[in-house]
Amino acid sequence: MDYITKVYKMVEAKNPNEPEFLQAVKEVLDSLRPAIEQNPQYEKAGILERLVEPDRQIMFRVSWVDDNGNVQVNRGMRVQFNNSVGPYKGGLRLHPSVNLSIIKFLGFEQIFKNSLSGLPIGGAKGGSDFDPKGKSDMEVMRFCQSFMSELYKYIDADIDVPAGDIGVGAREIGYLYGQYKRLTNNFHGVLTGKGLTYGGSLARTEATGYGLVYFVNEMISEKGKTLKDATVVVSGAGNVAIYAVEKAQQYGAKVVAMSDSNGYIYDKNGIQLDIVKQIKEVRRGRIKEYIKQVPSAEYHEGCSGIWTIPCDIALPCATQNEINEESAKALVANGCYAVGEGANMPTTLEGTKVFLDNGILFAPGKASNAGGVSVSALEMSQNSMRLSWTFEEVDQKLHNIMKNIYIQCRDAAEKYGYKDNFVVGANIAGFEKVANAMLAHGVV
Ligand code: NDP
Repeated sequence: MDYITKVYKMVEAKNPNEPEFLQAVKEVLDSLRPAIEQNPQYEKAGILERLVEPDRQIMFRVSWVDDNGNVQVNRGMRVQFNNSVGPYKGGLRLHPSVNLSIIKFLGFEQIFKNSLSGLPIGGAKGGSDFDPKGKSDMEVMRFCQSFMSELYKYIDADIDVPAGDIGVGAREIGYLYGQYKRLTNNFHGVLTGKGLTYGGSLARTEATGYGLVYFVNEMISEKGKTLKDATVVVSGAGNVAIYAVEKAQQYGAKVVAMSDSNGYIYDKNGIQLDIVKQIKEVRRGRIKEYIKQVPSAEYHEGCSGIWTIPCDIALPCATQNEINEESAKALVANGCYAVGEGANMPTTLEGTKVFLDNGILFAPGKASNAGGVSVSALEMSQNSMRLSWTFEEVDQKLHNIMKNIYIQCRDAAEKYGYKDNFVVGANIAGFEKVANAMLAHGVV
């Protein structure tokens, strides 16, 4: 049995009830094969066995009181996966589906993403099965305060710096930071995605969506394609989706669809983003409200139908495993030529195979959505220097980082004989830096 198969079987045996984690590990290990075969020092040092086992997993009870005076209990967690190239860094997700498998898959992916960013940050992820939807601001605040009352013991600006993810935006980061500050009496950059009045970075809100489009633009330009007049479908209507739409529209693309977890809207004349922002960012409403203001648009219940809309470019920006084999086939059949993952692992292994087999330009999330964590790292730099850069400065740095990530993916894929396979390219390029740092540190 070869080294990769042996390690994967071990991971399977040790984590039998963690399908998302196993899926992420399988995708990465399979694509590392050429790099592992050409570099026997990795096997000798047990790099893969160590990489698939988190440094530590912290799980804790989060008790809080709802507006009716009832005690509620959620489960909080933080998985600190690997800090070989810098302090742990990765978002916090608040969603009822959160479990250890999901947080581990996200933390594992984060190691490679953060390495690709070229910035000194390790991989981690955390969150809770708390559902902020339908909760009052005060309930969200009490939850966040209780969550941080445990988490603060394990984080620090030089140890672990969490950020937002699904269900964690400016409001939640504010409450978390307030509680951290109260508990530690320490005003330093222990969270990113902070508000601009207390150490946040300009362009952090836009970073993941903008970065995604910068990456896709690099990828398609090399093939003589352009975003101008391209028809684009974007799933989700959260932070990543909204700013991906904004940047794609700035490049002249026509975005015709967006979604939330209930259904999707189709506007053949092009989505009016200011209306979506009002609904989702200001009112925290549902995407179907769009058709009240734009009666010529359509609303469809259910999420997967969005992938049957003909488009040139698809940008899945909602959640994991939203494009399965069937959806991928529908996209290919309808003429889609490029897919850029804004969400983490939105395409199943089978869906990814469909894209690669059909020569679709496919940007894997760990590369194409690295803009958010990159600007988070820039926020850490600004906090350390007690400085704030302008929007243009940050955006320019983000643009360069995304170009550089694209080049790393392209070059690593070519080096190992997988031209245009950016899955292989991203995994190998992200892996090599971490693996070499681990080699340098000895067996720890
Ligand atoms: P938000 O919470 O802002 O938005 C998430 C969006 O996806 C919402 O429209 C939500 O709909 C929808 N959604 C959530 N769960 C599901 C589901 N199970 N099925 C269908 N739709 C769903 O999150 P973000 O925009 O921050 O994150 C989106 C994705 O991008 C995630 O995979 C995240 O890990 C990834 N990501 C985020 C980064 C960031 O900087 N924020 C950085 C890198 C990756 P509804 O409103 O109905 O819940």
